Amino acid sequence: MRRRRFLSHAIKSASAAVYSQLLPPGLRAFPFPQSAAPKISSDTSARPQLALTLDDPTLSFGSVLKWQEANSRVLKAISEKSVRAALFVCGMRVDEADGAKLLSAWDQAGHLICNHSYSHKFYGEQTSYADFAVDFLKDEKVIAPYHNRTALFRYPFLKEGDTADKRDRFRALLKERGYRVGHVTIDASDWYVSQRFVDRLGKQPKAPIAPYRDYLIAHLLDRAAFYRQLALEVLVRDIRHTLLMHFNPLNAFVLPEVMSAFETAGWQWIDASLAFEDPVFRSQPQTLPAGESLVWALAKETGRFENRLRYPGEDDVYEKPKMDALGL
Ligand SMILES: [Zn+2]
Repeated sequence: MRRRRFLSHAIKSASAAVYSQLLPPGLRAFPFPQSAAPKISSDTSARPQLALTLDDPTLSFGSVLKWQEANSRVLKAISEKSVRAALFVCGMRVDEADGAKLLSAWDQAGHLICNHSYSHKFYGEQTSYADFAVDFLKDEKVIAPYHNRTALFRYPFLKEGDTADKRDRFRALLKERGYRVGHVTIDASDWYVSQRFVDRLGKQPKAPIAPYRDYLIAHLLDRAAFYRQLALEVLVRDIRHTLLMHFNPLNAFVLPEVMSAFETAGWQWIDASLAFEDPVFRSQPQTLPAGESLVWALAKETGRFENRLRYPGEDDVYEKPKMDALGL
């Protein structure tokens, strides 16, 4: 179980000096704009569209930066593009008073507050249907207080069950509770790039952020191009995409540049609520083990793309040799 492991020991070892080094002068608190007009695209442009979905908000940032600063920076970056994102909340990371403050800031800014389970269990062999169901229901209590609480569920590690029985029983539970799957279409390993950045800061507190930012941006754009092309071939149309990113130190620093890089590459940011209206998000691929990017699973289901589908779709093992070679 390698993917998106939660990191804290590495973060704690990084130096506080870096934090002040990276912060721009005069950073101000996020002002909670209520009046920002939602960007509802009229589909008049041919630009591919994507929404930002951010997983695993947390209070455990160690000394790289404080969660309050990370939260302000991420929210400001999104608000500057005048879009609303979807936040997928894993309860155990925010289940205390400060967690409510963190989530309230997102709620007040109009972002969707969604369920990512309480304990982030891997829904494979090691987790029974019953345990997974209880953990999902436990997270409902965490997000229940928020106005923008939305009945979208994102599977931890994008793992939707290792048997048809477990897959289908949980899908039935989601339906019974009025939920839909908060699918990722553009999967990536941003969590790993941030982990490497934090590890580096632990050893070399003044290490520059730029090479990690550049790697992250190139990686995300590459994955976006891959999944967009795959979707075009599988569905014979451009779908509205959902990009997976995480609430982590690297993203907190470079999200504005990531979002601008997508625009420069021709993409258009849209509201997450609009993206999830695309009918593609109602599909239920019959693959096993179930999960991965929705586009990956739909391609897998056809049996026609075997030479282009690795398993898992994304992971640290694919990025490690490239980052090693770059000395990152
Ligand atoms: Zn997660």
